[in-house]
Amino acid sequence: MGCSLLCGRGPEDLRYFYGEEEDTYRVQVCDRCSGYLKILDTRKGGSVDALAIDDILTAHLDLVAEEQGYERKAPRLWGI
Ligand SMILES: [Zn+2]
Repeated sequence: MGCSLLCGRGPEDLRYFYGEEEDTYRVQVCDRCSGYLKILDTRKGGSVDALAIDDILTAHLDLVAEEQGYERKAPRLWGI
């Protein structure tokens, strides 16, 4: 997946990080637009029905991203 959800740039500017002991949730950050998306990977667990709750439960990932200077570009957790 490229940065189509953020600035539309290619994958060379993207990287991911994960929470501790959880790869169900990840944060995609783009160094070109300084944006990030928080993503739930439903192939590894979780449900798209509970995105609003999971979004709150993974608020620590937002803190990590914001501490690194990234700005959230999507209003809610993104389920894939
Ligand atoms: Zn971008």
